[in-house]
Amino acid sequence: MEKKNVPELFGSLVFDDRVMRARLSDKIYSSLKKTIDENVGLEDEVADAVATEMRDWAIEHGATHFTHWFQPLTGVTAEKHDSFIAPSPDGGVIMEFSGKELIKGEPDASSFPSGGLRATFEARGYTAWDPTSYAFIKDHTLCIPTAFCSYSGEALDKKTPLLRSMQALNRQAKRILKLFGNDDVKYVRTSVGPEQEYFLVDKKVFDQRPDLIYTGRTLFGAMPPKGQELDDHYFGVIKPRVSAFMEDLNDELWKLGILAKTEHNEVAPAQHELAPIFSTTNVATDNNQLMMEIMQKVAKKHGMVCLLHEKPFAGVNGSGKHNNWSMATNTGANLLSPGDTPYQNAQFLLFLCAVIQAVDDYQDLLRLSVATAGNDHRLGANEAPPAIISVFLGDELTAILNAIKTDTPYEGTEKVVMKLGVHAIPRFSRDTTDRNRTSPFAFTGNKFEFRSLGSSNSIACCNIMLNAAVAESLKQYADELEQSDDFETALHDLIKRVIKEHERILFNGNGYGEDWVKEATEVRGLLNLKTTADAMPKLLDKKNVDMLTAHKVFTETELKSRCDIMLENYCKTVNIEGLTMVDMVRKNYLPAMEGYLYSLAKTTSLMKSVSNNVKCNYEVSTMERLSELTDYILEAVEKLETALEDLKKYDDVIKTSEAIRDDVLPKMDVLRGYVDEAEMLTSERYWPFPSYGKILFSVQ
Ligand code: ADP
Ligand code: MG
Repeated sequence: MEKKNVPELFGSLVFDDRVMRARLSDKIYSSLKKTIDENVGLEDEVADAVATEMRDWAIEHGATHFTHWFQPLTGVTAEKHDSFIAPSPDGGVIMEFSGKELIKGEPDASSFPSGGLRATFEARGYTAWDPTSYAFIKDHTLCIPTAFCSYSGEALDKKTPLLRSMQALNRQAKRILKLFGNDDVKYVRTSVGPEQEYFLVDKKVFDQRPDLIYTGRTLFGAMPPKGQELDDHYFGVIKPRVSAFMEDLNDELWKLGILAKTEHNEVAPAQHELAPIFSTTNVATDNNQLMMEIMQKVAKKHGMVCLLHEKPFAGVNGSGKHNNWSMATNTGANLLSPGDTPYQNAQFLLFLCAVIQAVDDYQDLLRLSVATAGNDHRLGANEAPPAIISVFLGDELTAILNAIKTDTPYEGTEKVVMKLGVHAIPRFSRDTTDRNRTSPFAFTGNKFEFRSLGSSNSIACCNIMLNAAVAESLKQYADELEQSDDFETALHDLIKRVIKEHERILFNGNGYGEDWVKEATEVRGLLNLKTTADAMPKLLDKKNVDMLTAHKVFTETELKSRCDIMLENYCKTVNIEGLTMVDMVRKNYLPAMEGYLYSLAKTTSLMKSVSNNVKCNYEVSTMERLSELTDYILEAVEKLETALEDLKKYDDVIKTSEAIRDDVLPKMDVLRGYVDEAEMLTSERYWPFPSYGKILFSVQ
């Protein structure tokens, strides 16, 4: 086997700290570093110097173009390439790249969704360099991570509000840390490690399914004889083709400085997972976007297609993404890690409370941050966390909080009445915080794992909400504690009160159980926002607008536009699915059934003409049911067509999304039910598309 030098490979296509330190003068380097670490504005002279070095480095690594790489609200990344060339007087070209070009770009923004923020005559938007995320080379192009704004300064992307939310949290967390005497902390950042699930299917099989091509998921398909019931795929031996893909993928990701770490088979056949080591949230977000893109590209090279849809196959586990989240100081302290001393514990408990309160107060924001047409198929389907948001803490931590709340002895390592600032609480190893796979938001030792994300979601959305909501709890605590004369007592009272007020969000039980839905909604008053149509409009609830604008994460106009865009996206997605169904039924399924019916009828009449003794039971009974099904299918497809047509009469996106939820989606289900039954009755020779079995087991 060829020896691979991973340390040398790692980051070889990234203009990272190592490259900057080596290539920039000390003065330029330290000034850039200040911008990166402390958010200090960048001077023109520094930008020019960085641009020159970046250009030379990129050219040395084969780049001919540069692009401002950004994340518009389409959910994928966007780039417009410009070459470095500039004409020289002698008729040739020189390679040019200025500080101005590094810092700011002006792409024509008119075709990106803005939700009415930017009238088409004001088509210009601008991109602004995010120096906290390293530039990298992809396909001979120097990619510069940027934020994307309208000319009047409103965010048109996911990075801008994410950076703002990180600043908000930083501001409030530092106030709290100060109260605990941690004056040396320069900044607090959130970090994220997103675990990414995906399916791999053979490209040849994929190409035969219009539903996969147009919508990313199968809209029809009867269950195969073998699914995931044996649980033999999870952590199973990785097939050679998949293993070759993973090796290639790791190489590509490592070159881009992405810390690809863990890979394994997931529960469903053909399903896999890749987890990187965690990094600062905006970097993790950029990396995750890049990772999804590279996965798809590398799969193609191996004759496969990587499906990132949340629910490519009905009846088979869908794909999610786990957002492992924590807060850390520049000095390396994880604020969600219980410390060794009582005082650290109290600080830990306060940050823990901030998260608990944030999740309770802003359940709706967390839920809607992961709401898409695709993810609606997962949440609540007994395979992913339920649509009800709750927090899992594990038995030990729950017992500690209970002891604090009631001033009763905590029966842990020592039997004591917990007094904050006096008693140490035990550290939680990952193993003592038992694992609960059904919880949407679980504490796992020194971080929280938000598990409701869909596999194709940008992690920016949920982290914006999480950071902002936690910043809000911290702000309230800081406001209160800064005023108190007796910090310790005030702290104790505050923590006690928060536990009492927000314990309804804590749930260690089975999130898949029917009784939980009842208890959560009827007894505890938690939200159960089942679909995107239910969740998204909550973005504009006053309490949410107030909080998000107070922390300067969004302006009210931005929120309105985002709500519109997300709902529009939901409507368009389902509309395309509906139209694809109609197309497949009319052009393929019904004609295929007709062909098989013809063969059955012909066989029957032929056989009967030869012998009076044949009964033709199989032919006749199949024919009767299939013929019935063609009638039902015709009726169902006509109803679906009408429902889709009816959507056009709404000019309001909320009404359209409700009609999708109440009218279109149920009709799609009915249609699918009949077609899937017909599949079981029809000879495979006649069936127009590869079956679930063929797709799911297409990669060997
Ligand atoms: P699991 O058992 O859920 O797979 P792991 O320990 O493997 O747990 O971690 C899953 C992800 O969480 C990885 O991406 C890891 O880097 C990330 N992670 C670990 N510690 C932290 C932290 N303090 N903050 C954010 N993410 C973290
Ligand atoms: Mg996990």
